[in-house]
Amino acid sequence: MIAGGFQKNSLIDYPGKISSVLFTKGCNFKCPYCHNPELIPFEKDNLVIDINEFFSFLQSRKNFIDAVVITGGEPCLQKNIIEFALEIKKLGFFIKLDTNGSRPEIIEELLKKKTIDLIAMDIKTTFDEYHRFTSEKDIENKLNKSVNLIINSNTDYYFRTTCAKPLVTKENFSKIMKEIQGAKKYVLQKFIEKKVFKPDFFKGIDQFSEADFKWLKDEAEKYVKICKIN
Ligand code: SF4
Repeated sequence: MIAGGFQKNSLIDYPGKISSVLFTKGCNFKCPYCHNPELIPFEKDNLVIDINEFFSFLQSRKNFIDAVVITGGEPCLQKNIIEFALEIKKLGFFIKLDTNGSRPEIIEELLKKKTIDLIAMDIKTTFDEYHRFTSEKDIENKLNKSVNLIINSNTDYYFRTTCAKPLVTKENFSKIMKEIQGAKKYVLQKFIEKKVFKPDFFKGIDQFSEADFKWLKDEAEKYVKICKIN
């Protein structure tokens, strides 16, 4: 497990619970709006934190923290993610996993072993547009597999989209929603144009207004049970 950051307390990352957040290092995507671009490279650098210290912290805060959020980077690319999650589980914490959905085989294993309590998968654009920010092979198929595994699991989940034009537009939105048709919960996240990986990608583009978000929500609710705006 290579982690590039750790936030001791969070009230927002695991809905309804006090959590600690661990940021894994390395990602196979290069989303232009990534807010943690320093976590994209896999190389070990001065960001890397000591995992033993992380576990000591968890032990010492057992009575104050309910959950651990494993985010990234992309956590499912870490070699020992399953053992790592089991270790946290043994300490009695709830676990939320944030994932880009590119490793269905790991998601399947985590779900099968009942290691995680909540999973949040990003839906960044239509699956045939992911080549704009990743060279991951067979990505459409992998994403479809992950969506199906999550929807058909007994684990709590939600899908979420950062609503950033031009990856998300009114024109491609219904196609995006069809990728997760039948899902229980979906979150529309507002795009914050601050500290992003590739600011030029968004230059000169008017992003979604409040009225647009209402339209997106109404449209999403044709495909999913619950849609929230964050
Ligand atoms: S998947 Fe997440 S961590 Fe990876 S580049 Fe995209 S936003 Fe950043």
